[in-house]
Amino acid sequence: MISGSAPFSAERHKQALLNRVPGASTVRDAGHRGCGEPAGISVSSGREQAVPGRNEGADAYRQRVRHAELCHPAQTATAEGADTRYQRHEAHRLPTRSDEQSCVYCPTCSAPLGGTTRELLAALRASESRFRAAFADAGIGMALIDAEDRIIEANPAFAAMIGRELPDLVRTHIHDIIDPEETDRQHYLELVRGERDRLRVEKRLKHRDGRAVWSNVTISLIRDGSGRPLYTLAMVEDVTEQRLLGDRLAYQALHDPLTRLPNRTLFFERLNAAFMPAGDETSTGAPAAGAETGKPAGSAPVTLSTEALALGGPAAGAATATVTVPAATTPAATPGGGRPTRRVGLCYVDLDGFAAINETLGHHVGDQLLVAVAARLERGFSRDNDSLVARLGGDEFALLVADSSSSEQLTRLAGELIAALEQPFDIAGQQLVVTASVGVVERPVQETTPADLLKDADATLYWSKADGRARWTLYDPDRGAHQLTRQRLATALRPALERGEFTVEYQPLVGLADGAVHGAEALVRWRHPRYGTLSPDRFIPLAEESGAIVPLGKWVLEESCRQARQWMAEFPDTETFVSVNLAARQIWDSDVVADVAQVLEHTGLPPRLLQLEITESAVLGPGGRPVQALQALADMGVRIAIDDFGTGYSNLAYLSRLPVHVLKLDGSFIEGFRDPAPGGRPDNRFRRADADEQIVGAMVQLAHALGLTVTAEGIENASQAERLRLTGCDTAQGWYFAKPGEAERVAAMLRARKAG
Ligand code: C2E
Ligand code: MG
Ligand code: MG
Repeated sequence: MISGSAPFSAERHKQALLNRVPGASTVRDAGHRGCGEPAGISVSSGREQAVPGRNEGADAYRQRVRHAELCHPAQTATAEGADTRYQRHEAHRLPTRSDEQSCVYCPTCSAPLGGTTRELLAALRASESRFRAAFADAGIGMALIDAEDRIIEANPAFAAMIGRELPDLVRTHIHDIIDPEETDRQHYLELVRGERDRLRVEKRLKHRDGRAVWSNVTISLIRDGSGRPLYTLAMVEDVTEQRLLGDRLAYQALHDPLTRLPNRTLFFERLNAAFMPAGDETSTGAPAAGAETGKPAGSAPVTLSTEALALGGPAAGAATATVTVPAATTPAATPGGGRPTRRVGLCYVDLDGFAAINETLGHHVGDQLLVAVAARLERGFSRDNDSLVARLGGDEFALLVADSSSSEQLTRLAGELIAALEQPFDIAGQQLVVTASVGVVERPVQETTPADLLKDADATLYWSKADGRARWTLYDPDRGAHQLTRQRLATALRPALERGEFTVEYQPLVGLADGAVHGAEALVRWRHPRYGTLSPDRFIPLAEESGAIVPLGKWVLEESCRQARQWMAEFPDTETFVSVNLAARQIWDSDVVADVAQVLEHTGLPPRLLQLEITESAVLGPGGRPVQALQALADMGVRIAIDDFGTGYSNLAYLSRLPVHVLKLDGSFIEGFRDPAPGGRPDNRFRRADADEQIVGAMVQLAHALGLTVTAEGIENASQAERLRLTGCDTAQGWYFAKPGEAERVAAMLRARKAG
């Protein structure tokens, strides 16, 4: 197709040839003058244009091109000793009638550069037959294509390549032979518009028997004398063998030979691709860099044809579509319209007791079982570009879900996967039942790396095994963090504080007599970028060990006092205090008195609205420093509470000599508070509950006698709250009233109380 030009016609070709080939006017003139010589290149008769296989324009053009090439000065100078400039000049000034007596031949290729019409025609005829022979006998396929994308002429090699007869090919539209592809089409149009001279593409041709013929096609543009595009010449090389070989090698490199599932390499490519920004996938087919290095490396989807897949599998012949993995996935926008968050999920599967099957029934049975398991997993869970089932080695499989939606999606899949594998397998005439353990990880791609995702899935898989097998387990950041070396977390603490990864949650302290919020305990959390939110039990002991508790504790104190000052401003009548935990090391290693004084001054919080919680062990150890510090704090007007009372020395008499104002009874006492046994028959549990209740009652009485108030921790239901109220306990804290949460939740409770 040549845009903007009139439709192709044989007559126009003929004219083009005559106009284009220097000296062609001589040919026409000669024929017309009746010299008896039929025009050797069949330009005199329009009829002959209809004969398949004739193409004068191309021949003449070839001759000209070839001539010009061969008359290169370097060659002619030695062959003839002639003036090279003269030769080149003559080459372009092919003969006119006035030159008839002085025919000059190219010394190298013998083409006439001048001479009589007869000589010229003879030379053209000879040249034409040489080129025709070359065209007809060429080992590679050739076809001339006109402006309407129809074949003008093709050679036998091309016809044989696609299983057609030569005459059938003339006027055949190229789309009957080649599937058009948008990109190639664009380039082809550029070619026929004359914007490029040559185009090389790999194309799948349609053989008459339906199979695909892969070919390297070079298309050259043929122009007329004035440079206008005329038609194209396609040279087609059959590369099916190489292509299939390449596909087979690519397939083998990316698939497990036993189960034919994607192998680790392909799995890592897809995993890495799931971390790439949408639309940024490039196809290289090479194993992704950084696949196992922990970096979300840019990587490389692989393009595989289904022939390749069919080669390895029973579905041979399914040779049409091309599968590109992975397709770009469009990230879902965040609800607030912020940056889109892409997620990724992984189920890491391991068969339970597979080694025993191998040992007792033999490896051949084990292999068959793996094949059957793989087939079942692939059939049930592999979804084009969304979900990939791979064999990672041995009896380990993975289900990768790129662009997952939630943890629930992955745990549902894990459940289905376990259920699917629980169905018996018929192997070698016997029924085998296997179970599988699955580790599940699902998270936003920004918060992890491919290597970490796999590592955590692997760890979670072993939790499943440890917890009893035949189950799935979802990754738990706390449990994961627990496994980290203490050293790693400990060293991360200080930088995390500088990066602002800590937050404070508040849990209300409720008066049991009036049900009002009297204050709130400040409880620190670590929003760890990799492990999610870590509870203080995970890091406070480490912070104490490393000394990081000193800056961390000061930050919590400052943050909490600032918050309490805000409550004070909003609810001036309530005297809502904040209760901040103080670690032993803060008392020993820092000037906690000076720190507290400075923070109170900074934030403007009156000392009476600050309570500091200290454990018994922190104050009852040897040495006088804590006692002095507590005394100084109490003198300042700050209230001191003994946290987790009942779990340590529980030495009330000793405490009475300390400046302590509040006892916080440990939640373990309250756990035993239950309703009376049904039917009034107390069993052992209820007897113990009674004992707990009596102990708590006695402690409350004693504490009151010493001038201390009592707060009960861990209240989870109304009954516990009521029984504590009856024992005379002053305040309570627990999920029954509120879980630790944002400061605003405390404010909301205060507001509600004020309104009600
Ligand atoms: P704690 O001071 O005894 O805090 C009470 C703990 O009990 C909190 O755990 C709280 O979430 C939990 N809790 C509250 N209500 C209930 C309930 O109804 N049932 C149950 N089962 N538990 C409940 P959390 O937040 O994990 O804190 C654990 C410990 O970490 C705290 O125990 C405290 O000793 C320490 N901690 C927390 N924040 C800080 C801090 O800023 N500095 C220091 N030094 N230690 C802190
Ligand atoms: Mg506490
Ligand atoms: Mg406590």
